[in-house]
Amino acid sequence: MRTQSESLFSESLKHIPGGVNSPVRAFRAVGGTPFFVQSARGARITDVDGNEYIDYVGTWGPAILGHAAPGIIEAVKAAADRGTSFGIPNPMEPALAKRVKSMVPSVEKIRFCNSGTEATMSAIRLARGFTGRDAILKFDGCYHGHADSLLVKAGSGALTLGNPDSAGVPADFARHTLVLPFNDPEALRAAFEEHGSRLAAVILEVVPANAGLYLPRPGFLELLRELTLQHGTLLIADEVMTGFRLGPAGAQGVFGLTPDLSCFGKIIGGGLPVGAFGGRADVMDRLAPLGPVYQAGTLSGNPLAMAAGLAALDGLESSDAWNRLETLGLQLEAGMVAAARSAGVAVTWQRIGSMFCGYFCEGPVWNLADAMKSDRARFARFFHGMLDRGVYFAPSQFEAGFISTAHGDAEIEATVRAASEVLKTL
Ligand SMILES: *Cc1c(COP(=O)(O)O)cnc(C)c1O
Repeated sequence: MRTQSESLFSESLKHIPGGVNSPVRAFRAVGGTPFFVQSARGARITDVDGNEYIDYVGTWGPAILGHAAPGIIEAVKAAADRGTSFGIPNPMEPALAKRVKSMVPSVEKIRFCNSGTEATMSAIRLARGFTGRDAILKFDGCYHGHADSLLVKAGSGALTLGNPDSAGVPADFARHTLVLPFNDPEALRAAFEEHGSRLAAVILEVVPANAGLYLPRPGFLELLRELTLQHGTLLIADEVMTGFRLGPAGAQGVFGLTPDLSCFGKIIGGGLPVGAFGGRADVMDRLAPLGPVYQAGTLSGNPLAMAAGLAALDGLESSDAWNRLETLGLQLEAGMVAAARSAGVAVTWQRIGSMFCGYFCEGPVWNLADAMKSDRARFARFFHGMLDRGVYFAPSQFEAGFISTAHGDAEIEATVRAASEVLKTL
């Protein structure tokens, strides 16, 4: 029964476009109506009708220590007692900056903003200002937030300029963005040969996790680093999702990549609105007030947000979270793969650490075109079957799942049990 959620959703529909403040929450990809959350603690969410769910969305990544992690709640309460916003520096800004630098060696200087979108948008402007070039290159299936120059999809043909991926994005902006398939070294070489000298930056998700989840093929990142260095193009690692999740230095640490700039969000705010971008000091020092690239924010470096971020990174480092997350990820993978096999359903389970995606197709999946082969109607039935059994996966085939350190044997076993039942009904 979700009657309270249903009535809140009809109320929201009257006042908020689609009833939601971010589109995927509307459940359009799977049908039905979203539940409204009363509270969340650890690995579990309780909705306004009193239903409890084991949560694999984790507020889309930030809740890596589980919901309402005690260290974060205490830090935010203590900060709130001192005031919620100052608009002038507070001591937690250099503290969090120093902490990020100690974890991510490629970051020499960092600036905080309020969302992942702001981080990537600003990093792109900075790269353009630094290089004096306009064009950028991104990969099909990688999501970098909703700024104009990044809401661009591949045009027709192998090597075309991008097309707007949203109404309201001028084609004149989109034409400065080249879009290539991920994991395609030939396309990358050809793009650099033709356009290298006018590319300000390449931006990528080192582990693309906004079309499900797939990994960089061996050699792809090395080639990308080599070509960008050769052509004076900056390499921007969008670690908004992978930063602090895959390890202290994120995906770049796991794959040995040294980008010029990195973007952060999600975990770095401990569940409060924080984004950040950082990297080479000579590039970062082109930002105002030192340099000519303008970027600003009334609430940037907000004391509650900085306190939450520091507490999140403290919690991760002090608990050796990443080993535990790997063990849990492996445990869930083993259970889900076995459940799919015994139900005779083709599921390709892709995973790195505590991030995963089960595609309803034969694998492996290396790019957006592969991901699109997944049977989305089947996924939608799976999603609802799991939700009815108290397990909340993301309401879209093309979102990654997340495990938190608050998950344990009980949650994983209950999830696999539910999946064994649901998969047989598909
Ligand atoms: C979530 C996400 C963003 C956008 O962050 P917001 O805080 O939602 O603006 C950018 N890049 C990646 C890789 C993301 O996963």
